[in-house]
Amino acid sequence: MSNMQLDTLRRIVQEINSSVSLHDSLDIMVNQVADAMKVDVCSIYLLDERNQRYLLMASKGLNPESVGHVSLQLSEGLVGLVGQREEIVNLENASKHERFAYLPETGEEIYNSFLGVPVMYRRKVMGVLVVQNKQPQDFSEAAESFLVTLCAQLSGVIAHAHAVGNIDVFRKPSNGATYKTFQGVPGSGGIALGRAIVLYPPADLASVPDREAEDISDELQLLDQAVSSVRTEIQQLDEKMQDSLMSEERALFSVFLRMLDENALPAEIKELIRAGNWAQGAVRRVIDKHITLFAQMEDDYLRERVSDLKDLGRRILASLQEADSSHREISPDSIIIGEEISTAALVELPVDNIAAIVTTEGAANSHMVIVARALGIPTVVGVTELPINTLDDAEMIVDAYQGRIFINPPRRMRQRYKEIQKEEEQIAKDLKQYETRDAITPDGVAVRLYVNTGLMIDVVRGVQRGAKGVGLYRSEIPFMLRDRFPGEEEQRAMYRQQLSHFANKPVTMRTLDIGADKDLPYFSIEEENSALGWRGLRFTLDHPEIFSTQVRAMLKASIGLNNLHILLPMVTSVSEVEEVLYLVERDWNAVQEEEQVKITKPKIGIMVEVPSVLLQIDEFSELVDFFSVGSNDLIQYLLAVDRNNPRVSSVYSHFHPSVLRALQRLVKDCHKYEKPVSICGEMAGDPLSAILLMAMGFNTLSMSSSNILRVRKAICHVAMSDAEKLLSEVVKMNNPLMVKSWIEYYFKNHGLGDMVKSNRLVSV
Ligand code: PEP
Ligand code: MG
Repeated sequence: MSNMQLDTLRRIVQEINSSVSLHDSLDIMVNQVADAMKVDVCSIYLLDERNQRYLLMASKGLNPESVGHVSLQLSEGLVGLVGQREEIVNLENASKHERFAYLPETGEEIYNSFLGVPVMYRRKVMGVLVVQNKQPQDFSEAAESFLVTLCAQLSGVIAHAHAVGNIDVFRKPSNGATYKTFQGVPGSGGIALGRAIVLYPPADLASVPDREAEDISDELQLLDQAVSSVRTEIQQLDEKMQDSLMSEERALFSVFLRMLDENALPAEIKELIRAGNWAQGAVRRVIDKHITLFAQMEDDYLRERVSDLKDLGRRILASLQEADSSHREISPDSIIIGEEISTAALVELPVDNIAAIVTTEGAANSHMVIVARALGIPTVVGVTELPINTLDDAEMIVDAYQGRIFINPPRRMRQRYKEIQKEEEQIAKDLKQYETRDAITPDGVAVRLYVNTGLMIDVVRGVQRGAKGVGLYRSEIPFMLRDRFPGEEEQRAMYRQQLSHFANKPVTMRTLDIGADKDLPYFSIEEENSALGWRGLRFTLDHPEIFSTQVRAMLKASIGLNNLHILLPMVTSVSEVEEVLYLVERDWNAVQEEEQVKITKPKIGIMVEVPSVLLQIDEFSELVDFFSVGSNDLIQYLLAVDRNNPRVSSVYSHFHPSVLRALQRLVKDCHKYEKPVSICGEMAGDPLSAILLMAMGFNTLSMSSSNILRVRKAICHVAMSDAEKLLSEVVKMNNPLMVKSWIEYYFKNHGLGDMVKSNRLVSV
């Protein structure tokens, strides 16, 4: 292939990949190919499996009216021949071939030469690309290889469109009621039926969803106002810059103004609004389309205008959003969907009305998911293929046990899921009897269950469900709900609430653990590699003023209650703990002096999250009173797998043999040095792993309030002798999936099948 052809190829591929929809990709393709090859016709036929026909989807050269209407049977015509043979057909004079089928709607009888190339994906024919010329000619080998390369690219685009279901490829994109399913990663278990509400950050054009306009004339008017205010804004900018910029440098402003002319961008946006989209969605579509066109321009200057175009789009959007009074109400049964939803954004919503959460990013142990779990909201994350922009108000089912999402589900499926919801309610009712039971195994071993808290609801539910203490208070959660660092008195009052609800029981308060996926809205830490960066204790030791304010507030809050334990997150080295001990001692003395009271010195423990700690239990034991395993992070670092990355979520498992063996050894080491060791990561709240932890000898298991009853039930039904036997069996296995199914098998055979999530598989 010549360099020129390669360049053309690259350009077309780039353009196809950046186009907004499959229909656009196909249109771009036929036009570009016809130009590049200087042929009269280029058409694409796609295989419509449902109807077993090749449908003409795009064409340059054939009668435009026939596109989307004309179709051929699988064995019909030359297109059928290419599909059947799964190979190129190159004919100098097509009409002389016995398989030539005359289709009057296309007006193709005048074309003589024919080159058809199959579009193949994973050995299956997806369609046929055809070029034709009036002039009888044999197409060259170069032409063939050019088209084969393009078709290979196109097949990926078509397969993706089929898979993500963002359009039914055989209908126009407006058909939103097609049933589609998507797979993500289960976050917080449960089932929900409801309607989607897309949550997107303001002034972020790319994430604006399509939404049916409630009133088209209102949307048109909103657009007019927005365009006129952006025009004024740009005119003002232009005037302001008159003295400091040369006239050529200010030329951009007049380009912007021309684009805002009534019959330029606004006309295109209005066309989409009239077709039913709301103004914000229409702006996104039109700007996207132009960005794609600009990005393909040969002229460097014009190509670089893409960022200006984006800027213009953002300005129109910001102006529309300012005037937007139509914020979708989060009514009961709302299913919140978004690319990424932060903990702070979640807790700001009316959480009682949220039926489920679905995100395209994130993984099962992200902070947001942990909070959702505490709130009992079914959550699925990492649904990478979900076409968020097109789903606003769509009817959905979320099966957060399996991580499956169903869009516009059929009636039978809705019925089945409603039945499952009823079964769920029944299970929850049955679990209620465990609120007042003790966690004692059938062979008489008592296990201490604590609750993890952050929000007040965790405290209330923890008390109600009989938690014997707080194993982890995530102090960063109340920090996330504010718009600045809370002061000492404010913190004292928050901590007092936690401590007094669990008076006479231990409350383990973790010092501020921010960084990585725990961002404060008012203190964002941007890092290349944030999981390994400035987080937890590393941050607070660099800010002793923030650390001391917190410790002082905790100490003051504990006056008269004496149940405070302090827990340090993300400890890596002994020297960090030495520094903390110095600070705490200093603050303890100071607060006692200021308050003129004796304060019981809190016990101080560290989280085992960084693998280095596993190998230095002897030295840490000399400094601290207890250990608590943060298995969410420990697994992340032990297995070198990002806990928030859906692509590697299958690698992240608390049943990994090395995780189990590391924990087993850790418990032995802690007990050797006579230190209590608890575990407060999500692993403690999964009944399947909880019984293994119990067998290892953990002194306490601490978990989300939503898991306490299930874990207590498991403990009440699994004898310690059985748990020990299971543990000795699974630690010898080398595969996490084997470990999991081994324990599941035991549960199913011992009347605990309802705790095995995969039991709730639905097929329709
Ligand atoms: C953990 O890492 O296991 C833990 C409990 O802390 P977090 O999930 O808040 O990081
Ligand atoms: Mg952690």
